[in-house]
Formats: sequence, C-alpha cells, structure tokens
Amino acid sequence: MDGAAENGSTASASAASATSADTGGARVVLLGPPGAGKGTQAQVLCQHLGVPAISTGDMLREAVTGGTELGKRVDGIMASGALVDDATMAEVVRERLAKQDAARGFLLDGYPRTLPQAETLRGILEEASRLLDSVLLIEVPEDELVRRALLRGRADDKEQVVRERLRVYREKTEPLIGYYRERGLLREIDGNRTMEEVTAQMLGLFGVSR
Ligand code: AMP
Repeated sequence: MDGAAENGSTASASAASATSADTGGARVVLLGPPGAGKGTQAQVLCQHLGVPAISTGDMLREAVTGGTELGKRVDGIMASGALVDDATMAEVVRERLAKQDAARGFLLDGYPRTLPQAETLRGILEEASRLLDSVLLIEVPEDELVRRALLRGRADDKEQVVRERLRVYREKTEPLIGYYRERGLLREIDGNRTMEEVTAQMLGLFGVSR
C-alpha cells in the first residue's frame, strides 16, 4: 500500500502510507485554492478509496437551492466570495461525518479552510479515536486559477469574486499548509497539469496505478 514516495520531487518524501492500515479506510483532506481541481479529483479518488467525497461547498449550495434556514444564512456570504463562519461550518461537518457512510473514512473537499476549522476537525476525529491519514495539497499558479474560473463561468465566478476567493484563500486557508506540514500529513501535488496527470499522481500516493 505504500506508494507515497514514488513520484519524485513533488511528492512528499514521507515513507508512511497515505491510507490507514488499521481500518482499511482513509481519512483524507484535499487542500488547495479554489479552481485547483479538488472536486474533480475527489470524484475519482473516492471510488478507489471506497469512502465518500464530501464537499462542503456542494452541501452549502444544496442548502441554498433547497431554501433551508442554513441556505438563507449563507447565500449572500457565498456570493461575495467570503467564508461562512467557523461555528456554522463545524455544525455542518460534525453532522455529515456522523453519518454511517463516513464511518470508514472520507475525502473532504473544501473543509477545513481556517485554522480553527482544522482544530474542530481534529476534535471531531479525536472523539472517535481517529486521526487524519493525509492532506493532499493541489497547487496551481494564480493566473491559471483565474483563467479556469472564468472559463467555468459559475454564478459566483465573476472575476471580482474569483479574486476575492483567492485573497481569502491566501489569508485564511494557506496557513493550513504549515499546520499540516508540521504534523507530517502534507503531500504536495502539482495541479498545473492535465487532469489525468494529476489523477495519476494522486492515485500513486495511495498505491494505485492504472
Ligand atoms: P467551494 O465550492 O468549496 O469553493 O465553496 C464555495 C463557497 O462555500 C465558499 O466560497 C464559501 O463561501 C463556502 N464554504 C465552503 N466550504 C467552506 C468552509 N469550510 N468554510 C467556510 N466557508 C465555506
């Protein structure tokens, strides 16, 4: 199962496996700026790992579409490119991770996004005597991110909003890179390549080749 060191310079030098040996599942966080391809990669990876891909952005968008209390609360915040507050996100994530399908693990896309959120996640896992297995950082240069976002053309992807989301990422989320690196969990992936190449490197980290 140990493919962590296979991919040369951009892969972590750690020899530890990226999945958990004890349960056969995996508790993984995908980290990276908006537009790095986390959602796309999560869809492929989750099938190989047999754990659900959980996107907090998707959950919030569903709440907005469904017109729920949560949706009404977060609609304007999301449209502006800002972050929903940590307490609200803690509730959302705690509830989701308590569901049966997440018992063997999960692939989190879009959470945590702040240091307090990382601490919340640590606490939730600790209560269940669990630890994170790995944090995959997908890196893409800023110009490329803006280009991709404008091509995608989602409602909240106007250039000004895209720039704001990137600014918020740098300010609030980037500190998580150091946080997880210090804990020996970070694995870096070069996201400035084709989707297939990125997928191949990710699967390599989990000892899957195709
Ligand atoms: P995403 O699809 O992950 O880019 O998320 C879309 C939007 O949902 C973000 O710009 C935030 O407004 C909100 N959001 C998603 N996840 C979080 C989170 N972990 N913390 C705060 N806000 C979030």
